[in-house]
Amino acid sequence: MASVEGFRIGHGYDLHRLEDRPPLGRGRALVIGGVMLDWPKGPVAHSDGDVLYHALVDAMMGALAMPDIGQMFPDTAAENAGRDSREFVIEAVRRVGAAGWRVVNVDATVILEKPRIGAVKDAMRANIAALLGVEAGAVNVKGKSHEGVDAVGEGRAVEAHAVVLLAR
Ligand SMILES: [Zn+2]
Repeated sequence: MASVEGFRIGHGYDLHRLEDRPPLGRGRALVIGGVMLDWPKGPVAHSDGDVLYHALVDAMMGALAMPDIGQMFPDTAAENAGRDSREFVIEAVRRVGAAGWRVVNVDATVILEKPRIGAVKDAMRANIAALLGVEAGAVNVKGKSHEGVDAVGEGRAVEAHAVVLLAR
């Protein structure tokens, strides 16, 4: 049942293992928030593996208690192989709008040991803002390292968290 209240909040989380490109590993090109980073390792994923877009989709869908990205776009479906994750965000935005909601703002964190994303955070924000139809000032992306510990800190994985506020 739809809420009669005016706001909903959602959280999304995603992680992808990072591997070398073929033939050494199964890593794809490293794309985060629609920005391609020049790096020898990339995500192991059925789609293009954009960890930030995936967390963003789950935040939007989570806010409305709708099916998550894995249910929307199964990784067993051939049509989703290598798919541009922009399309997942576009579909999530469509579902949010169809349910009578709009995005107010996004706050996201990407946890990646290397490369550092400081120089491209604004490009990620601009990409997300354009997809959501909001001002760039309504989208924040923060980069964090994992202080050298665990899989993320050892450069073997990348994580993202996103929080989204929706309004009627
Ligand atoms: Zn993912």
